[in-house]
Amino acid sequence: MFKQTKKKTAIILLTLVTLLMTLNIATATTYIGSSQSNKFHYTDCRWAKKINPGNAIYFSSREEAFSYGYVPCKVCKP
Ligand SMILES: [Zn+2]
Repeated sequence: MFKQTKKKTAIILLTLVTLLMTLNIATATTYIGSSQSNKFHYTDCRWAKKINPGNAIYFSSREEAFSYGYVPCKVCKP
């Protein structure tokens, strides 16, 4: 009886983790940088909102931002 409950809990936990991971991928953050600076931000960073849309550069991953010579913003720490 106890063992079964434990197994169920494990399955529920596994499902939750999988769900969270899927959610994470689905909401894969795109990062934003400005052609006027070398910082990149989370798109919801208050500094990101100040970027002129005409100067905005989007990155799909941190690696991509790094490859362009961008550094993480110290406020939103992407
Ligand atoms: Zn930022």
